[in-house]
Amino acid sequence: MTAQLIDGKAFAAGLRARVAQRTAALRDAHGVVPGLAVVLVGEDPASQVYVGSKEREARAAGFHSVVHRLPAGTSEEALLDLVATLNADPLIHGILVQLPLPAGIDENRVLLAIDPDKDVDGFHPVNVGRLALGQPAPVPCTPRGCLMLLKETLGDLTGREALVIGRSAIVGKPMALLLLAANATVTIAHSRTRDLAEVCRRADIVVVAVGRPGFVPGAWLKPGAVVIDVGINRLPPAPGEAKGRLVGDVDFDSAFQVAGALTPVPGGVGPMTIACLLDNTLEACLAAKGLAGAF
Ligand code: NDP
Repeated sequence: MTAQLIDGKAFAAGLRARVAQRTAALRDAHGVVPGLAVVLVGEDPASQVYVGSKEREARAAGFHSVVHRLPAGTSEEALLDLVATLNADPLIHGILVQLPLPAGIDENRVLLAIDPDKDVDGFHPVNVGRLALGQPAPVPCTPRGCLMLLKETLGDLTGREALVIGRSAIVGKPMALLLLAANATVTIAHSRTRDLAEVCRRADIVVVAVGRPGFVPGAWLKPGAVVIDVGINRLPPAPGEAKGRLVGDVDFDSAFQVAGALTPVPGGVGPMTIACLLDNTLEACLAAKGLAGAF
């Protein structure tokens, strides 16, 4: 038997549609429109693509969507001033500063300056702390999307053996905290983990966020495991190709023969990230208006 494919693209489209419906209902009932401000500093091509998609999807959901495109030479103080203006803007409920920032700007200082209640990326230390304590908080979009796909596939995660490979602040650590909050038994692996193949074979759930193409082979997986591949890696172009193929951190072909369910790359976790950003922004807007849970 081969794995079920977890269709993140379809799930994300459904989530975006639900956000758009709730946004319309909120606007009709209260005249309130969720506002998302995205700040991009510099000309990093990948960041430009991500920011363009965020702007487009926010508009499509019916949001007030603003993008501040600043030149690469912008000073840290100027960026902090912009963040302060956005913090004070009553029409803006979510602020996202696209990372990475150019060299010379202290990323931590900028993230710390964002009002935690408008921090729709969930990277502010206050929100990291809230997540660790099990308190309500905006949760980083990519791991939140992974959790949604896991619940959609497995239902209740209570008591499942979950392995997260990778311990970054953006994906691995918040993923582990979310799985813990969902009552899974969680192991976090990283570059110093011994005998990763053995650790992997015990897991009912494997979330891979390493950044190495095809890192996890099917031979490491427990038969029937549910595998979430967060990795986005571009291979060098094959002869005749303009651009190389996008692949994940899991060796798809061998994993497909062993796993119970598996996210493809592209079309798995990737589309969930922006859909969760929209949902986080709507939630931040509802909380700001004292309407949490009402729509
Ligand atoms: P980081 O580089 O920040 O973290 C990678 C993690 O992998 C580190 O914790 C590192 O361990 C671990 N690692 C590296 N080598 C090994 C190894 N040999 N064995 C076990 N663990 C190892 O990456 P991110 O978390 O930011 O991203 C991971 C991947 O996910 C990337 O491909 C990225 O493009 C993708 N991504 C996709 C997103 C989406 O929207 N779908 C969003 C964000 C990321 P150590 O800490 O010990 O160094």
